[in-house]
Amino acid sequence: MPATERLYYRDSRLLEFDARVISLSDLDDGQIAVTLDRTAFYPTGGGQPTDTGTLGDARVVDCIDAEDEGVMHVIQGPAPEVGDTVHGKIDWPRRLDHLQQHTGQHILSAAFVQLFDAPTLSFRVLEHECEIDVELENPTDERIEQAVDLANQIIWESRPISIRQVTSEEAAALPLRKEPARAGELRLIQIGDFDLTPCGGTHAKSTGEVGVIAVRSWERAKGLTRIHFMAGVRALTDYRKANQTAREVAALFSAGREDSPALVERLVEENKKVRRRLGELEQVASRVEAEELVGQATFDSAPRIITRVFDDRTADSLKQLALALIAHPNTVALLGSLDGDTARLVFARSTDVSGDMNRLMRKACEMIDGRGGGKPDMAQGGGKNLEQLGEALDHAAKSLI
Ligand SMILES: [Zn+2]
Repeated sequence: MPATERLYYRDSRLLEFDARVISLSDLDDGQIAVTLDRTAFYPTGGGQPTDTGTLGDARVVDCIDAEDEGVMHVIQGPAPEVGDTVHGKIDWPRRLDHLQQHTGQHILSAAFVQLFDAPTLSFRVLEHECEIDVELENPTDERIEQAVDLANQIIWESRPISIRQVTSEEAAALPLRKEPARAGELRLIQIGDFDLTPCGGTHAKSTGEVGVIAVRSWERAKGLTRIHFMAGVRALTDYRKANQTAREVAALFSAGREDSPALVERLVEENKKVRRRLGELEQVASRVEAEELVGQATFDSAPRIITRVFDDRTADSLKQLALALIAHPNTVALLGSLDGDTARLVFARSTDVSGDMNRLMRKACEMIDGRGGGKPDMAQGGGKNLEQLGEALDHAAKSLI
């Protein structure tokens, strides 16, 4: 005889019960686990997470399936003593959620078998969504939505769901959707004449309780099709979030939800064009700016050294300006920018000047706690020490004279 009678096998709506404590265990993490002679708490297993609730004045935070050793209730709070009678209470919103996801999975998996002869190989209820891995050939949105439509049709017909206990010999003669994972007496879950499968989980009493099934996304994974779906309350919660996101985007365009994708696409295209045009104009502006800087620079026999620090100039923009400056003969450009939390540097020289910009850049980057390098005529770098940027440029200028 198993140590714990599993009341949830018979009735998934049984939420309160009395039971006797048969043992207490100290777990490795310091928590206490209570084993009862009977329980309505479902322990983690078969892709379905544990129930939570209360046992007397303690919280039940996890339930462990120790098979014939019983169900271990991990508690936080006052522990009962062996022999005590305790009152257990299941958290209904969580149980309902698991019922809906788990029963929804039976229905969706059966729909894939019926339509495409595609069995489900694994199932998981995760925190936000559920996953099934299906042996589905040539997955497409259309094929998957066809299965979703069939599953919802079965849900809205509100078909009764019943539990049958059979021997393994009896089971062998029945059209089970999947092979039983264990020998001996089997618990079968029957959804009208739509699905018959062995399972130890908690299920709805009729398909209507599942509410609705929706697929969020799917992908190919290890030769299978992984389908992310939600049922019942989760689907409604997800719809609310998705709707809010869609409405926020639509409001930015003062448009309707359905018009947003086309408007976003147009905006992205326009942005690309504007960026291209901006790049062209920056080149022109850099040439004009370079003329001005060259005109202001004092010039004697040494190369003309133009040293400047700008605010908020990107690495690309600095490089454009440096290129425009060294188009002028006998010129060295030592440019810096305070770009957000990064100090940027570009060093460049015209071809008729000697000097190793790469070496100068490496030294300068040491001073601004950063990294950089390049070629003898042009080098770039950046660092986090913004305060040292001016000093690093002065140092570079002095070493050229
Ligand atoms: Zn099940």
